[in-house]
Amino acid sequence: MQTTKNLSWVTSANDPNCDFPLENLPWGSFCLANDASNRARIGVAIGNKILDFSTLEGLVDVPHPLQEAFLMLQNGQMNHYMNLSQEVHHGMRMWLTHLLSKSNTSFQEIEPKLVNQSEVKMLKPCFIHDYTDFYASIHHATSVGKMLRPDAPLSPNYKWLPIAYHGRASSIQVSGEKVKRPSGQMRASEGKPPYFRPSRRLDFELELGVFIGAGNNLGEPIPMEQAEDHFFGMCILNDWSARDIQGWEGQPLGPFLGKNFSTTISPWIVTKEALAPFRKAWTRSDNNQEILDYLQHPENLANGAIEIHLEVDLETAAMREAGLPAYRITQSEFSEAAYWTIAQLITQHTSNGCNLQSGDLLGTGTLSGINPENAGSLLELSQGGKKPIILANGQERSFLEDGDELIIRAYCQLPNQVRIGFGECRNRIIS
Ligand code: MN
Repeated sequence: MQTTKNLSWVTSANDPNCDFPLENLPWGSFCLANDASNRARIGVAIGNKILDFSTLEGLVDVPHPLQEAFLMLQNGQMNHYMNLSQEVHHGMRMWLTHLLSKSNTSFQEIEPKLVNQSEVKMLKPCFIHDYTDFYASIHHATSVGKMLRPDAPLSPNYKWLPIAYHGRASSIQVSGEKVKRPSGQMRASEGKPPYFRPSRRLDFELELGVFIGAGNNLGEPIPMEQAEDHFFGMCILNDWSARDIQGWEGQPLGPFLGKNFSTTISPWIVTKEALAPFRKAWTRSDNNQEILDYLQHPENLANGAIEIHLEVDLETAAMREAGLPAYRITQSEFSEAAYWTIAQLITQHTSNGCNLQSGDLLGTGTLSGINPENAGSLLELSQGGKKPIILANGQERSFLEDGDELIIRAYCQLPNQVRIGFGECRNRIIS
């Protein structure tokens, strides 16, 4: 059974392969190329256009319960909007669906205010106070663990709690921005003294980001039955990693300078409501059911997973010069890769009373699939740098070179649902 697509008067949204049909309506922040003030505006993506909230005053009838929210969006206060109740978020989605639907015959005044996505500079979608990166794929944890500890790849805590480290929010960048190769301290081999130089083992990590909506008060953990109430939406996330810096500095406190030089995200937040049709039962690849009570809930079992397909393409400078298309180096699936659900990440993060704030970002961790070819990093794909991958034009890569551009895409697609996409997270490495 094919669900009929809800048609929009924005015709590009009706293309079956479009990332941003009426069923998606993701949130983003942007500024106009010709606006000298560089003012950040809030918008919703529809087809290849953006509905710009700063231009709608007087043109639309905002239902009374949404007027406070509408003002926030008009004024660029995305975090305030994210902190509102789910009822308001739902009401806004219903209203926007009506406004942009083909059945709305009074769209003539709004249409000229739409902005072309190709003509804006996308910004971070909200202010990100804090960023935490998890380690939710057991396949990634196992294959990386094997390189370090062949006999016991998984740490004893892995199956009992979602592991994470506190990342750096200030160095989060959006798609389109350049990523500068970091320098750092590293050593060639055990027993040799370290040196300081540009990283030679620069890698990506294929991840998804989870944005927090309403926060919680310090000292008040979020139980599993409420965790989803705090989940606002998702983006693509690339946790750039300098493996040589990370390897030398990482003991005993974990990731630091090998990670915090950059994290890139796709600019649109795909909401929890848009993702709802792609929910499924949560299962674990090893069928392990041993979980402490505070990380369990029947709803999490029944609907905790989300099917999101992920793809990574690499375009080298040589490909670009020769006019060759980017080369697909891996693809993966969120629900198969993840050992923990979004609700469990949120509950674990706050289980000691730690407070999350609206706009906080949680990385899922590298979403490697069960098969080696579905790994979410070059560290895994090249077996620690020992077996370079061969690209379509004959070039080899163990790790990333200057001029390489990495393009990550994500989308949800099921036979009986309208496809929605995340757009892309595209970033080039410079020296
Ligand atoms: Mn990571």
